[in-house]
Amino acid sequence: MAQERGHYQQWQKVKQDFPYGIWRVGNCQNHREAHLARDGKIYAFDHPIWTQSPPGGEFNCHCYRELISAKDMKERGLSPEPLDS
Ligand SMILES: [Zn+2]
Repeated sequence: MAQERGHYQQWQKVKQDFPYGIWRVGNCQNHREAHLARDGKIYAFDHPIWTQSPPGGEFNCHCYRELISAKDMKERGLSPEPLDS
């Protein structure tokens, strides 16, 4: 399985295989600008975004995370955001 959604604790169990997460905005009318700006961006498991302002963590937020392996990320020509972004 190349993609998998999950909570942070569950992600921890599979982070060897899926060390990165893609931010996805969910199906919602009023997205936060900050979240729209993150749509499709890749953040490593250790990126503070996942613990400090995680997808779906705020009222009415339908954002979610799609896990991706390093291999898939390379194959798609993608790269993760810097840890301090
Ligand atoms: Zn959101």
